[in-house]
Amino acid sequence: MREIHYDDIVQKVADMCIEANYDLGEDVYNAFKAALKTEKSETGKEVLAQLIENADIATELRVPMCQDTGTVVCIVELGQECQIVGGSLYDAINDGIRKGYGKGYLRNSIIRNPIDRKNTNDNTPGIVHIELVEGNQVKIKMTAKGGGAENMSDLKMLKPSDGLEGIKKYILDVVRVAGPNACPPLIVGIGIGGNFERCAYLAKKSLFRHVGKRHPDPAVAKLETELMDDINRLGIGPQGMGGTTTALDIKIEVEACHIAALPVAVNLNCHASRHKEAIL
Ligand code: SF4
Repeated sequence: MREIHYDDIVQKVADMCIEANYDLGEDVYNAFKAALKTEKSETGKEVLAQLIENADIATELRVPMCQDTGTVVCIVELGQECQIVGGSLYDAINDGIRKGYGKGYLRNSIIRNPIDRKNTNDNTPGIVHIELVEGNQVKIKMTAKGGGAENMSDLKMLKPSDGLEGIKKYILDVVRVAGPNACPPLIVGIGIGGNFERCAYLAKKSLFRHVGKRHPDPAVAKLETELMDDINRLGIGPQGMGGTTTALDIKIEVEACHIAALPVAVNLNCHASRHKEAIL
């Protein structure tokens, strides 16, 4: 059994929180640059150029790329042949968030509950999903998920008879209703299958896949490409100012489900799509 120390996880999570907020991932940055070449609207182009400049300034001056520094969501692939020593994995991740958000002067956006709405003042707790995997490593994938795009996300239990056309129509409706409020250009995360709670998790998980990377199943990849074209024909455009770049990418994850069910979740991510990963 390989031992992984609590303090190493704290430090890794703290570093990822700061880097995610200061340094836009290369995949999203390159998608901005590619969109700048294809965007048809002049205003859309201008907004994309500003987003690139904004990302450059954040990296250079070591400041967050957006005032909304997000909710930290981690998906941890925990090797079953390793043991966390010195404390619990959940505590280590939250200590890392506390440390990173403090040291990086990142806004604390988490309230302790939605009834009294008191800020916890350290951006904890994060939302932690653990997947048990083979091996003796821990892979931590984190995102600092913006509140505006999360608010415009949606879930629906469709009927199996709605079929692929029903799925597409529902997803397009969610993006259309979100309009500028989800801070486009978007990364659209979709979960299809599982059950009520599982399809929401699948939609979130899909957002960790790098921009530009298609699903390995050709049928799912085809659906991603078709929907991407449909979404970009909606005309919402960068920051909702009109244009042909409403989405930078769409990600779909699918899973088995009940014969009577067709759960679909749409988790929208904004242009400040911040994700990092580390292996310990
Ligand atoms: S949704 Fe994203 S871009 Fe919009 S304010 Fe929040 S973090 Fe910033």
